[in-house]
Parts: sequence; structure tokens; C-alpha cells
Amino acid sequence: MKSTGLAGLIAIGLVALGGFFMPGYVQAQSYTSHGGNITVQQYINEAGGVARYIAPGRLRLAGRRVGCGKRPSILDPEFDTWAGAYTNPGFIIVNLRYMRKEKKTVQLYIYAHECGHQFRGFDEDTADAFAIRRGVRQGWLRKKGMKEICKFISRVPGDNEHPAGTVRCRRMIVVYNDIVKRNNRSIAKKKYTKRRKNQLLLGFRN
Ligand SMILES: [Zn+2]
Repeated sequence: MKSTGLAGLIAIGLVALGGFFMPGYVQAQSYTSHGGNITVQQYINEAGGVARYIAPGRLRLAGRRVGCGKRPSILDPEFDTWAGAYTNPGFIIVNLRYMRKEKKTVQLYIYAHECGHQFRGFDEDTADAFAIRRGVRQGWLRKKGMKEICKFISRVPGDNEHPAGTVRCRRMIVVYNDIVKRNNRSIAKKKYTKRRKNQLLLGFRN
């Protein structure tokens, strides 16, 4: 009963983590409605006591505090995938039972991907790119983590809305490489500027 009610709600307006359903749930990937108007309270009521409200910025995942602006999270052990998002009003649903089976970087990526939907809309690649950029900026995503994310996502087949996991992996690697290249360039530039400044200072002193 509980899970039927919940499934009904999910189908109304969930932007599920694109393509993160296991092959057995391929049908579930067809959720496309973006106009879900379910409030956090309604979701929790429907979940029948198993879902837990986590205030914005208070969620701990993979040993880190994660946040998504002013959006709260809901921990729902009966949610049928790793994570999902309602964007109107915005909140993120996390199933820790699924999450804990994944590598830390993968968990952070999944959360950041859902957060990407909150800020950037419904496009899967855009949400992926958002997550990758955030990972590099916050320091939890490096080359090894990128490989772990690819390994994870490559298990997932695509559908009408979601590119296949292997395609998403390739696209994310492009984003990752681009950011790293740009960061390296700006580090090199800073070093050069510092050196120049020191040289100039020396020039004055001598
Ligand atoms: Zn998604």
C-alpha cells in the first residue's frame, strides 16, 4: 500500500536521476513530467513514516556535509533508486540503502547531479556537467573518482530521455578534462604573475 502510493507520486513529477534505474526498472525511466507540485510535507506523509526530513545543508553523505542551496533533503529507504529530485518546490530524495553500496565519490556525484537539476533544469547532460564541475571545485573529484563514476554509470542503459551510461561517461570525461586543463592554465598563470612580481620587486631593491 505504502509503496503504491509513493510510486503514484513519483510518476507525477519526479526527475529521477537519469538512467540510474536498474535494468529491471527500465519502465520507470519514462518519468518525464516536470511539473510536480508535491511539497516536502506531502511527500513525507505519503511515505508513511519511513521518510525523514533533513534541513538544507545538513545532510551528511560519504563523510561530508552536502547541500543544495535552500533545498532540503528527504531520506527515504523505500525510494526505488539512489536519488531523485522534485524541482517545484525543490527538494532532493536520497535512498541511503542504495547510496551506501557505492563509492564515496559516486555518492557525492549522484547528490550533485540531483542538485544540478534544481539549478539547471531537466537536461541530464547539464546536470552531469554541473556535478562534475562541483566535484572538482569542492575537491572531492579527481581522476580516480572520475573512473569510479564512469564505472557506475556505464552499468545503466539509456532510454528516450536518457543517453546510455557509457555515453554519459564520455561526455562527463570531456567536461572533467576541460576543467582540469583550465585550472592548470590558471595556476600556471598565477605562478608566472607571482614570479614576475618577485622579479620586479628585486629590480626595485637592487
Ligand atoms: Zn538526472
